[in-house]
Amino acid sequence: MRNNNTCTIIMYHYVRDLVNTQYPDIKGLNTHLFIEQIEFLQKHYHFITIEELIDSFQNKSPLAPNSVLLTFDDGYMDHFNNVFPILNRKKIQGCFYIPVETVVKNTILDVNKIHFILAKVTDKQKLYNELLNALDNYRAEYSLKPNDFYINKLAIADRFDTKEVIFIKRLLQVELEETLKNKITSELFNKYVTSDEKAFSRELYMNEEQISCMQRNGMHIGGHGHSHYWLDSLSKEQQAFEIEKTREFIETIGGDSNYWTMSYPYGSYNDDTLDILKNNGCKLGFTTDVNILDTKLHNYLTIPRLDTNDIPKNRHDEPNSWYNYI
Ligand SMILES: [Zn+2]
Repeated sequence: MRNNNTCTIIMYHYVRDLVNTQYPDIKGLNTHLFIEQIEFLQKHYHFITIEELIDSFQNKSPLAPNSVLLTFDDGYMDHFNNVFPILNRKKIQGCFYIPVETVVKNTILDVNKIHFILAKVTDKQKLYNELLNALDNYRAEYSLKPNDFYINKLAIADRFDTKEVIFIKRLLQVELEETLKNKITSELFNKYVTSDEKAFSRELYMNEEQISCMQRNGMHIGGHGHSHYWLDSLSKEQQAFEIEKTREFIETIGGDSNYWTMSYPYGSYNDDTLDILKNNGCKLGFTTDVNILDTKLHNYLTIPRLDTNDIPKNRHDEPNSWYNYI
């Protein structure tokens, strides 16, 4: 049994009926497993609201034993269609973190473009070779290193993905500079998925009305940056812009900008981020560090989370080792 300073915070991304979509290979949580996980949590945990969590940091008020809070990143339409109705029926609050640009500009985040390219192209070796060719084409213009440098550094298989897939993800998500990442990702997305970014964006992400509807029905809407950048790679001025736009957006959809929270894209932040958030009155900041939150140990702006895959997805399962964390 946990003490009353701790809370399990769970992070979700795609929640959809995968086999019945056009992209069954997208790495997401099946809706029926989401329901199973909620049933499991109802049996063993106590759902709290973000207001209770803020309160526990500000006033040192105790949390219920085995408390749990659900967070959903990236503003997917999945959240409105598949998550919101279930949480609403069960009177559970979810916290939804929306990248502003996807809603106000109808863009698609690069990270999502990569997911759909990988889900669409079954021959990963072909995609890998295509990327090496793209590096050759841009080598002079962007002063790139020889291909072997990137291969040796990035093409290392892990327990989930082959070395080709890891190479594609790391090269396009992290390694290359922002404009080149964007260029190559868009080329592949246009070629393999669709050239109509706006229409695809409208199907992939929630719109303002939907977000505002969830907010009016007791869900918490938080910030996830304007353009979903790695914040630690930006200057302080650029970060200030990202965060200011985030706060404005929360106000636009009817949220209380004095009572707002943030989830860092890719879990990335630095001292500048924390400084700006403090000055903007941000009440909580969520990272992707894997742990149980202990309000006596952790800072309110660097809160750890578990992934949905760290928690059982069957209502009859027994709690795992995260349950007994003290
Ligand atoms: Zn994100």
